[in-house]
Amino acid sequence: MAKVFTIGEALIDWIPAERGVELKQVDSFTRAAGGAPANVASAVARLGGSSAFIGKLGEDAFGDFLIETMAAVGVDISRVLQTKEANTAMAFVSLRADGNRDFSFYRNPSADMLLEADEIGDWFSTGDVLHFCSVDLIEAPVKYAHREAIAKCREAGGIISFDPNVRLPLWTSPEDCRRAILEFLPLAHLVKISDEELTFITGIEDEQEALQSLFVGDVRHVIYTRGPAGAMWLSREFQAEVPGYTVKTIDTTGAGDAFIGALLFGVVQQREFLQGIPQETALRLLAFANAAAAITTTRAGAISALPTPQEVEALLAQSV
Ligand code: ATP
Repeated sequence: MAKVFTIGEALIDWIPAERGVELKQVDSFTRAAGGAPANVASAVARLGGSSAFIGKLGEDAFGDFLIETMAAVGVDISRVLQTKEANTAMAFVSLRADGNRDFSFYRNPSADMLLEADEIGDWFSTGDVLHFCSVDLIEAPVKYAHREAIAKCREAGGIISFDPNVRLPLWTSPEDCRRAILEFLPLAHLVKISDEELTFITGIEDEQEALQSLFVGDVRHVIYTRGPAGAMWLSREFQAEVPGYTVKTIDTTGAGDAFIGALLFGVVQQREFLQGIPQETALRLLAFANAAAAITTTRAGAISALPTPQEVEALLAQSV
């Protein structure tokens, strides 16, 4: 079975006990495994796919906890390294009344940033997917580890997937973040972007024009998520769209990660993906990811909220 590799940060999300208040007013937090690439690998594994996480963690209790959490869901953790040089990253989160979040990150530097290019092995085969995000594209060794992994996966005939997943508080300036995203964008075959990020990344107000501007370099597929309004799949050949589900949303943490994880679970099963896929297939994969993501918003946390394939199929069946 072809594998979905994800590279980047696994971290501790400290989730507030109270919701609807600002971060500075939160008294107590609960520990949760997080970090977009770790969430995506977990989503694939939870659905029964083959996935592996590539990254570095602290040689500390939180690093151990993250490794055990990913392994328990079925993620291959054999490429995870641990170091004494820095601690595992942490993010304190506050939940706004609408279920959206604010973050405060603790990484100066954190262990994930210390992953080196020469620590990336020849792990990739034809048809594997390598998925990455922008948090670990900051100027640190891990940025060059990303470059190496992308180059190796491309050489092996793999599929490169990029979810910029913008987290501005981690950057010295918004422009630095944008520049790094635009530098890596042309290396991806598939890009996932949310409505909240589109104008920031492209600098273009008009939605269609902004989406079309993402087709640079090797980009063949743009997946556009629109929160409760659902998602679109734009390729160089077609455009497909699904409306959002009306569900009892309590926490959107990890919805985007569950979405792209569920989508890549389908993508990695398409042998000819890089040669192009039919619109009906894209629509089927999009509907599956949309249902998987909707379910995660009805539960607290990221990895703990991920659905099983049976739960996704049940929601898909309801809408027929
Ligand atoms: P994240 O909040 O994890 O960063 P994102 O901003 O990357 O997510 P969104 O567009 O907010 O991505 O959501 C991703 C997908 O999750 C949507 O396309 C949709 O399928 C689902 N989703 C998100 N919010 C809701 C909601 N309130 N109700 C139903 N589905 C939702």
